[in-house]
Amino acid sequence: MFHRCGTENRLSNQTKTAPGAPRLRLRITAVAEKMLRGGHPWVFADSVRELNRNGKTGELAAIYDRKDKFLAIGLYDDESPIRVRVLHTGRPEKIDPGWWSARLQLALDRRSGLLDESTTGCRLINGESDGWPGLVLDQYDTTLVLKIYTAAWLPRLEEIAELIHTRLAPGKLVLRLSRNIQEIAAKGFNRADGMMLRGSAPNDPVIFMETGLRFEADVLRGQKTGFFLDQRENRRKVESLANGRRVLNAFSFSGGFSLYAARGGAKSVTDLDISAHALASSRCNLALNGPDRRVAHCPHEYVQADAFEWLAGNRDRQFDLIVLDPPSFARREAERTTAMRAYEKLARLGMQHLASDGVLVACSCSAHVTAEEFFDAVTRSAEKLDRKFVRLETTGHGPDHPATFKEAEYLKAIYIRFN
Ligand code: SAH
Repeated sequence: MFHRCGTENRLSNQTKTAPGAPRLRLRITAVAEKMLRGGHPWVFADSVRELNRNGKTGELAAIYDRKDKFLAIGLYDDESPIRVRVLHTGRPEKIDPGWWSARLQLALDRRSGLLDESTTGCRLINGESDGWPGLVLDQYDTTLVLKIYTAAWLPRLEEIAELIHTRLAPGKLVLRLSRNIQEIAAKGFNRADGMMLRGSAPNDPVIFMETGLRFEADVLRGQKTGFFLDQRENRRKVESLANGRRVLNAFSFSGGFSLYAARGGAKSVTDLDISAHALASSRCNLALNGPDRRVAHCPHEYVQADAFEWLAGNRDRQFDLIVLDPPSFARREAERTTAMRAYEKLARLGMQHLASDGVLVACSCSAHVTAEEFFDAVTRSAEKLDRKFVRLETTGHGPDHPATFKEAEYLKAIYIRFN
């Protein structure tokens, strides 16, 4: 019933599976089998040894081991080098509406206690690590944003939207698509980035609360799903470190770290970002928090510049707390070495602006750079300065951004205090 893998067996995603076609069954290499057994959620195309028929993007694929024993079931993706994204391993289970509903409940249960009246935004589903491979669901007050990173979800969107609607009753449900699947979404499924799945399109950014601060999220067009929810725990730490300090928030985006620092009693806050749009959003967020006297009274400066150039060119500017939270410098494995150099350089430039007793918070959001490598690079930069320093702590993923396998681990931060 299985046949060998080859390009001649592949169909385009548009091809419908014939009604009554047998369940798609795959056999994979021994190495891939071992990976799956170890909990890894991906099967790459070059690990597929045999399949019983042509697969269609989005259909369920059952994976059997060499003894023909059921190993796992997942979403087949003919468009991606990740050919199957695992939904379940172990004993066979029927993937029906009840199964999806239970899977959603698991993710929601994991976040119990995270949302309250002072925090109305958080991630509800974090992809593979929550058992929803290539799918993210973020909440901003009563608006939910469903972002998908694989075409395999496209044929199932209505089913998922209905499940979310039934279980969570959002005021609005927005669809966001990663760039690589926008074309197939448009041509094959009539879906576009930023389209509404439930409710009408918001005219303005959505306003939500995080730890009692108000923020706007551009859910239709903004980066990620509109806000960097993943930095909440680091922002809280920055607030606790900010009292009496002059704070530089480099790569400030919409000013998240800055507002926490201002509320924490910072002497002044400087937002540094290359994007005028980001700085404008930061100003809006400041205005949204006007009623908070500590935020309103903290002097706030906005600098639109390349952070590397500004840090290199303004040596006279001193700060007591510097946050460096750049975009990923390594989007591909091939960029890792250059990225490491850039992280090291940025840390060095930042440290040169730290007054005595100053704290550096250096972050990286690149999955291709491991936490240890990154911490070592920042520490190396510190060692090159003729100053004593202590590593205060390092942090990783927050509770609503679980990472259950290596490729999912992207966020890390190191806190260093200099004499
Ligand atoms: N710290 C933010 C998230 C940062 S996202 C938060 O907590 O929400 C990265 C930001 O870096 C974006 O706003 C982008 O405009 C900015 N950026 C990218 N390249 C830059 C550069 N070379 N110099 C300064 N800012 C840059």
